[in-house]
Amino acid sequence: MNKPAETLSLLPLWIGGGKVASQSARFGEVTNPATGEVIRRVPFANSTDIDAAVAAAKQAFPAWSETPPLKRARIMMRYLQHLEKNHEQLARLASEEHGKTLSDAAGSVQRGIEVVEFACGIPHLLKGEHAENVGAGVDCYSLRQPLGVCAGITPFNFPVMVPLWMFPLAIACGNTFVLKPSEKVPSASLFMAELFKEAGLPDGVFNVVQGDKEAVDAILQHPEIKAVSFVGSTPVAKYIYETCAKNGKRVQALGGAKNHAVVLQDADLEFTADSLIGAAYGSAGERCMAISAVVAVGEAADPLVAKLRDKAAKLKVGPGNIKEVEMGPLVTRAHRDRVKNYIDLGEKEGAKLVLDGRGLKVSGHENGFYLGPTLFDHVTPQMTIYRDEIFGPVLIVLRTRDYDEAIQLVNRNPHANGTAVFTRSGALARRFQHEIEVGMVGINVPIPVPMAFFSFGGWKNSLFGDLHVHGTEGIQFYTRTKVIIGRWPEQMEKAKLDMPTHE
Ligand code: NAD
Repeated sequence: MNKPAETLSLLPLWIGGGKVASQSARFGEVTNPATGEVIRRVPFANSTDIDAAVAAAKQAFPAWSETPPLKRARIMMRYLQHLEKNHEQLARLASEEHGKTLSDAAGSVQRGIEVVEFACGIPHLLKGEHAENVGAGVDCYSLRQPLGVCAGITPFNFPVMVPLWMFPLAIACGNTFVLKPSEKVPSASLFMAELFKEAGLPDGVFNVVQGDKEAVDAILQHPEIKAVSFVGSTPVAKYIYETCAKNGKRVQALGGAKNHAVVLQDADLEFTADSLIGAAYGSAGERCMAISAVVAVGEAADPLVAKLRDKAAKLKVGPGNIKEVEMGPLVTRAHRDRVKNYIDLGEKEGAKLVLDGRGLKVSGHENGFYLGPTLFDHVTPQMTIYRDEIFGPVLIVLRTRDYDEAIQLVNRNPHANGTAVFTRSGALARRFQHEIEVGMVGINVPIPVPMAFFSFGGWKNSLFGDLHVHGTEGIQFYTRTKVIIGRWPEQMEKAKLDMPTHE
C-alpha cells in the first residue's frame, strides 16, 4: 500500500552548503522497486533553482580555485574516510531506490570511492610540462587551470558511482560543481554532499539539484556553466552534446550500449557461461557494461546456450536487501513493462525463446517490478532485440561461422561501449583487441570495469565528445592548458618585426 502523498517527504536541493527547498511546484515520485511502493517525492527544479545553485558555485570559485592543490587534496583525503565509513549506508540508499542487490551496490560504491582515492593525488596530476632553452635563454612551460562552474547529469543505474566519476575530480582540479542526479534515484547524491561538507569542503563548491528535463535544459542554457559531463542514454547524450556545443560549453556525453561477448570455439565454456551470467543478469541487466549480446562462434554455440539456460534458470530473484538474492527488480514499473515488450517482440520476430522471465512472481512482493532472467537464441542482426538497447535481464545469442564474421558483426554495431572475448588463444585475443572498434575490451573478463586511474568511455554512439571520464582524461576535461614562454633578458633587445624564433 502506498502512503498518502501528504505524508511523503519531499527531498531538498543542496545549495551553498545546506539543504534548500526547491522553488518549483513540480515533483516526481521515487519508488522502492522491490515493493512497488512510493517512498518519497523529489522536486523537479526550475531555472530559478538552477540560477541559485550556479550563483553559489560561482561565488565559491575564486577562493576554491586559489586554494593550493595540496590543501584541496587533504579535504579529499578526509572525504575518502567519510565515504568509506558510510560505505554501507551509501549502498543501502542505492539499493533501496534502484533495486540492485546490496552486495552489488556495495561493489559499485567501492568503484566510485576509488575515483576519490585517485583525486587525492591532485598535486601530482595537475603538474604541467617544462622545456628549457626552447630558444637561447628562453623557457617554455604549461599550466593546468580550472574552468569555473562545471555540471554533471547522471543516470539511474549507478546512483553513487557515476556521480563520483565526475565531481571529485572536477573539484580537486579547482572547479566548483552542480550535480543533477537521476530523478529516479535522488537520495544518495544529497548524502554524498553532506559528507563532503563534513570533510571540510567550503560551502558552494559542491551543489546538488534534483529534476528532469527542465533542470537539464536550464543547466545547458546557463552562461556561467563552462563544462558538462553527462552519462545516460544515447539520444539524450547526443542532445546534450549538440546543445552544449551550440552554447560554447566543453562537453563529454556518455551514451548507451550494446555490449557483445564473442565466444570462440576454444573457450572454456563453463568459465565463460559463469562469467556471462554475472555480466548479463547482474543488476538486472541495468548496467552500461552489461553483456547483452553473445556472439557464439561455430560449435561453441549449442553447449554454451545449454549452460547459459541452466545457470540463468537457477538465479534467485527477489528484493535486493535479502542476502541470498542474486538479482533484484527493475527500476520502475514502466521500465519493467518496456523490457517485457521487447521479449514479446523477440518472439514475434522469430528468435528462439530459450528461457522466459515474464511469468516470474516473487512471493510477498507481488507489486515489485520483477522480471526473470530471459534468454534468446538464433537472434539475427535485423531483429529489434538486437538493434535496441533493452537494459534489462534479457540476454540474446547470435551465431557466426567464424572469428572474422564475429568481428564484422560487432564492428557494424553503432554502439561501442564495451566488449569481451573468451578464448584460450593468446594470438586470437591479441588480434581481437587490435581489430575491435570498441572503447573498452575484456579478455576473458566480461565487464571491463572502470578503474579510476584509467579512463572510462566508449566509442561511436556510446560517447559524444573527445575525452572519457576519470583517469588522466578526466583531469584534461576539467582543466584548460595555458602555455607560457618566457625569458629574463639582461638588456632590452632591439624590436624585431619577423615571426619570433627565439634563436
Ligand atoms: P536517461 O538518458 O533517460 O537519463 C539520464 C539523465 O538525463 C537523467 O539525469 C535524466 O533526468 C536526464 N534526462 C532524461 N531525459 C532527458 C531529456 N529528454 N532531456 C534532458 N535530460 C534528460 O538515462 P537513464 O535511463 O537514467 O540511464 C540508463 C542509460 O544510461 C542507458 O542507456 C545506459 O546504457 C546509459 N549509461 C551509460 C553509461 C556509460 O558509461 N556509457 C553508464 C551508465 C549508464
